[in-house]
Amino acid sequence: LSTTGNPAVAWAAGKPLSVEEVEVAPPKAQEVRVKIVASGICRTDDHVLGGYFPNIEFPVIPGHEGAGIVESVGEGVTSVKPGDKVIPLCLPQCGECCFCLNPDSNYCINFSESQNLMPDKTSRFTCKGKQIHHFLWTSTFAEYTVMPEYAVAKIDAAAPLDKVCLLGCGFPTGYGAAINTAKVKPGSTCAVFGLGGVGLSVVMGCKAAGASRIIAIDINKDKFAKAKELGATDCVNPKDFTKPIHEVLMEMTGLGVDYSFEAIGHKDTLTAALASCKVSTGSVLGGWKTRDSIPKLVSSYLEKKLNPDLLITHTLPIAEVNKGFELLRAGKSIRSVLLF
Ligand code: NAD
Ligand code: ZN
Repeated sequence: LSTTGNPAVAWAAGKPLSVEEVEVAPPKAQEVRVKIVASGICRTDDHVLGGYFPNIEFPVIPGHEGAGIVESVGEGVTSVKPGDKVIPLCLPQCGECCFCLNPDSNYCINFSESQNLMPDKTSRFTCKGKQIHHFLWTSTFAEYTVMPEYAVAKIDAAAPLDKVCLLGCGFPTGYGAAINTAKVKPGSTCAVFGLGGVGLSVVMGCKAAGASRIIAIDINKDKFAKAKELGATDCVNPKDFTKPIHEVLMEMTGLGVDYSFEAIGHKDTLTAALASCKVSTGSVLGGWKTRDSIPKLVSSYLEKKLNPDLLITHTLPIAEVNKGFELLRAGKSIRSVLLF
């Protein structure tokens, strides 16, 4: 049976949300209908409202950081049942695609920021006779919402839903960036650009990983008290300086930071975050400790384990050095070797 709820609907980009009566169709096969109890507001939802995602169609019910209780399930659903506490997953886990089967990736192939309709290309939401779009299959600004079974995770029945809703996006995003993606090491120095829900979760992740210095950067100094409470050792406001912020960080650290996180979403702060890293960050000469490793590579070559010979396309006397460069620029050589 359909049910009704009063979700916050975005009718058009740049317009405020309006709370409407919306009919929510029952879950189809392999789908779950959830009664949302609480939902956080993430800046990504604001990007939706601003119309920054070209693929997202309006009207749409945003929200992707929610927690609720399963109300009903469609045919074939086995992992959850009515009454279970759940968190809708804006990044699903189908468990079957190449990325789900890869232990180094969580980027389920079913993830897409244009998940505006259910997998069968229809919507479960209607309002005033109009179809309303889903968002990321979560649409947690709705009292009732429908999602595929693989986009919902059953959680502990003791969990307070008004708190653990944050585990749907902001907290795992930031905390995991530090401990899973960057694998911050004990004693290291970290910079965190942007101290919203995501950036402050990065600060917590860096602290949990044992970073000895965590530099928190924001143009809003009101964020600094909380950053310090959560583990930041230094707080920097770029507005207090005339020079670029990466130069400030270089001076503070001598050589730059070991790990840099950008949790704002601007091109210029991404560049600044990169420029704040130690020059050794990134891949230089393949990451080998050269004096130890180059002789070993030569031995492997002699044992025929490696074959860089295939890269040598030309052998030239030193007198023809300029010809070597002509071949390179013309795209005719891979490697020219000069002989003396
Ligand atoms: P937020 O708006 O709460 O926090 C952003 C912070 O950045 C604010 O404190 C703001 O004052 C600060 N800031 C803005 N411009 C700055 C500048 N030039 N220099 C320094 N600080 C500046 O946002 P949030 O909810 O924490 O999300 C942060 C970003 O992460 C958003 O772009 C969001 O869309 C994105 N996000 C990504 C994922 C993911 O999985 N990749 C998940 C959630 C959110
Ligand atoms: Zn989010």
